[in-house]
Amino acid sequence: AAPGKTSEVDVLIVGAGPAGLMAATWFARCGIKARIVDKRGTKIYNGQADGLQCRTLEIFDSFGFADRAWKESNHMIEICLWNPNSEGVLRRSDRIPDTIPGLSRFQQVVLHQGRIERFFLDSLKEHSDIRIERGVMPEKLTFNEEDAEKEDAYPIEVVLQHLSDEEMNPEQSKSTAGAAVSDGLFRSNLAPDDTEELLQQAAAKGRTSSRETVRAKYMIGCDGAHSWTRKQLGFALEGEQTDYIWGVLDIIPITDFPDIRVRCAIHSANSGSIMVIPRENKLVRLYIQMTTTEKGGATVNRSNITPDMILKAANKTLAPYTLSYEYCDWWTAYQIGQRVGSNFSKNERIFLAGDAVHTHSPKAGQGMNVSMQDTYNLCWKISNVLNGVAERSILKTYQSERRRIAQDLIAFDHRFSRLFSGRPAKDVMDETGISMEEFKNAFEKGNLFASGVAVDYGSSLIVAKPGSSAEQGDGTDVEQKSDKLRVIGKQELASNIKLGMRMPSFKVLNQSDARPWHFQEVLRSNGKWRIVIFAGDLSKKEQMDRYKKLGEALAAPTSFLHRFTPAGKPIDSVIEILTIHSGPRTEIELHDFPEIFRPWSKREGWDYWKIYVDAPSYHEGFGEAYKNYGVDAAKGCAVILRPDQYVSWLGNLEDVQEMDHFFSGFMKVRN
Ligand code: FAD
Repeated sequence: AAPGKTSEVDVLIVGAGPAGLMAATWFARCGIKARIVDKRGTKIYNGQADGLQCRTLEIFDSFGFADRAWKESNHMIEICLWNPNSEGVLRRSDRIPDTIPGLSRFQQVVLHQGRIERFFLDSLKEHSDIRIERGVMPEKLTFNEEDAEKEDAYPIEVVLQHLSDEEMNPEQSKSTAGAAVSDGLFRSNLAPDDTEELLQQAAAKGRTSSRETVRAKYMIGCDGAHSWTRKQLGFALEGEQTDYIWGVLDIIPITDFPDIRVRCAIHSANSGSIMVIPRENKLVRLYIQMTTTEKGGATVNRSNITPDMILKAANKTLAPYTLSYEYCDWWTAYQIGQRVGSNFSKNERIFLAGDAVHTHSPKAGQGMNVSMQDTYNLCWKISNVLNGVAERSILKTYQSERRRIAQDLIAFDHRFSRLFSGRPAKDVMDETGISMEEFKNAFEKGNLFASGVAVDYGSSLIVAKPGSSAEQGDGTDVEQKSDKLRVIGKQELASNIKLGMRMPSFKVLNQSDARPWHFQEVLRSNGKWRIVIFAGDLSKKEQMDRYKKLGEALAAPTSFLHRFTPAGKPIDSVIEILTIHSGPRTEIELHDFPEIFRPWSKREGWDYWKIYVDAPSYHEGFGEAYKNYGVDAAKGCAVILRPDQYVSWLGNLEDVQEMDHFFSGFMKVRN
């Protein structure tokens, strides 16, 4: 018999780090019954990850809490590159903007992981009953593969062990509450994993009454680099470890180095490198290279590493400048290795995300971002399936889309960290040294990658691009339902709305009240698909006729909109239609728009938040959305967006049949 009491849940999430919390957040917003467990007794209070990419802030905004991160964080505006001149003296060689101007309405910021976890926890509380169950870890996993494709089956059975107070609060995390400086080593990759030990301790104490059995439809292993879930599935992390060891200090610095409040990459002639990351609350994070050999150098015993050693190494690199501190908030040391998981899912029932499937050096500030973006990609899909909107076939796109991103990340990090850890070349003849010109180019290119907005998903049944998913993804083939339903978006209709990429944002005005909105603000993460109609210039009769015809086709009782929306539910509950017309705003009334574009409900009357116009605002300038999106202001176009704001399809206002085919490729008929 299954140990303890047995219960059922739609999704079980293991691990409440950034990846697990993002997963829980989606389920909270989509009304899914989920549980999230973590072996630790508390959230993180300081240290660890700190960088937030523009794309991550856009995602936070779609859940309504980017403002908190934006306000509390330190904003990264400029990067300075420092390296030796021809006499070997350290000097500033370049200044570049941190975030490429114009890329996003947000710029990269830094704020420690503990605060970010707090925003998630508050948002979960506000929107759901999902709470982190701490001191709980899985002990046994059974998967009934035969039931994997049965819609309503619970093919997963997990025995959960509830830990005692001592077990869930390991030594060092307890000692950090007082005066002692927080030491990140116990969570770092230089420390052994304690999962087995915790399970054995719990078992030895015979606390079998503290076990329970959970049956789940889906499970997500967000349990970090040592992932227990990954080990149960027998999946490997592939890649290599280098011997480069880096130290990290979070301090309030006392220094004569002039650029301590900007992000800096410092290469000394022979004494290693430093990355400076100015942080919130007067803190500065320093990443300091401790060893200068990639392979075969003296192995470093981690118990020998102290903040003093890291500080000494920093002073060697920074000379002739000096650095000291009175206050240290946190410190750690880690070894660089780049590895990616062989599989991201087992039968699209058990998934792995975050550090469980990719590890790399933290300097580029990617780990937390990419981890959250994994579950941001995955969990609307699981929610769509559980809510009966989509077929299970869309779940295959998680691996095809995210494993390729992980591979790109590992390749980027490999290049970047070797350029960073190497000694600068003395001149062009110095072949073993790193060319500073190459470093600067890599840094500038890296900035686009590191912003997160360059993500470009390949062709699949949810991205109507030419080519196949096997070519454009990680090799996973995501089959179309049938060739007849295959459509290809017309990229030429909007030069800056790229198929497979996230919808960019420009300001538009609400037709009804003239308030300016960044268009992305309207694209809330709530699990809905969207069709954005660029209606063009509706003051021209011919264009208004085209728009009205589209409205009639969408409103027809047999239209795909009705077929995919459950009877009795609001017409925008599965697919929401938004309009942006090109004006002029004052020559058209809301009631001139066909009703399907501003639906009516008995309780709330007309919906005033569906129709927008590209026009100058009273107080915030002119977004010039049509020009910036690259859409013809007279004729417009139609765009299908996924619930995560990635562009699925582009077409003309007449292409209703194509829209139908696109959605028919994976959506379930409800009506
Ligand atoms: P994690 O944050 O590792 O979360 C995993 C969670 O699962 C933890 O809460 C853990 O307690 C829980 N868990 C693990 N095993 C089990 C189990 N068997 N049962 C139940 N629960 C379990 N990234 C950056 O971007 N910038 C940085 O500066 C940076 N510095 C870092 C410094 C250190 C010391 C470390 C360890 C990581 C650093 N990272 C940094 C990486 C970043 O923290 C991770 O990429 C990010 O946290 C990954 O999120 P995750 O949710 O996948 O995993």
